[in-house]
Amino acid sequence: MAPHTQQLTAAPAVQLRGLTRSFDGRTVLDDIDLDLPAGQFTALLGHSGSGKSTLLRAIAGLDHEVVGSGRLTAPERVSVVFQDSRLLPWRRVLDNVLLGTNGKDAAEKGREALAEVGLKGRERAWPNELSGGEAQRAALARSLVREPELLLADEPFGALDALTRIRMHVLLRELWERHRPSVLLVTHDVDEAIVLADRVLVLDRGRIGLDLTIEAPHPRSYRHPLLGEYRERL
Ligand code: ADP
Ligand code: MG
Repeated sequence: MAPHTQQLTAAPAVQLRGLTRSFDGRTVLDDIDLDLPAGQFTALLGHSGSGKSTLLRAIAGLDHEVVGSGRLTAPERVSVVFQDSRLLPWRRVLDNVLLGTNGKDAAEKGREALAEVGLKGRERAWPNELSGGEAQRAALARSLVREPELLLADEPFGALDALTRIRMHVLLRELWERHRPSVLLVTHDVDEAIVLADRVLVLDRGRIGLDLTIEAPHPRSYRHPLLGEYRERL
């Protein structure tokens, strides 16, 4: 079956109805309805303070104040990645990836996830021995090992330099193509949103002000002529 046919028939991974969130009487999210189809890569743009993180936290089920004001349906297995890796500094990289997992093949899956993000051989490293990009790779491995149906990422590359960010774009898009979770990537970087996502939402004054589908052919970074021949060496 062609991917687009699957998307049309699949039930949405996330269904949000009437989500309102206020802080101290100030409305940040104003009666938001949103569907994220299963397996879709969506980016959420908006200026600083527009409520992107608030919306992501609500979808992640991390915001108990919104419960009751709206209705949320989300998958069982949700992974969240933040701007900082949130690795525990006193645990080795593999142990960070395995945190909260169990089962006899957990360690093997952890090693596989680390290999997938390009950290083979770094299993026993300490978090403070990793570069910023490597730490985010480890954070992605930690999210992958849970086999999430929904991956939420809040400006995961915001603290990285431009070249590392491009490498991470390549990696994230490849991981998505291999595992096909629904992705909601929060970013304030317009290029990042267009390069990575198939759909771009813009949060503005508490509402989804714009909902764009990015049509193929697509200017994805890893297919970009400027990158193509250099990609292997990046
Ligand atoms: P973004 O991620 O788009 O930069 P946020 O979702 O972090 O924006 O914040 C949206 C608005 O809500 C901001 O004005 C912020 O100050 C406010 N806000 C977010 N979380 C809290 C909180 N826990 N308490 C009070 N105000 C908050
Ligand atoms: Mg934010």
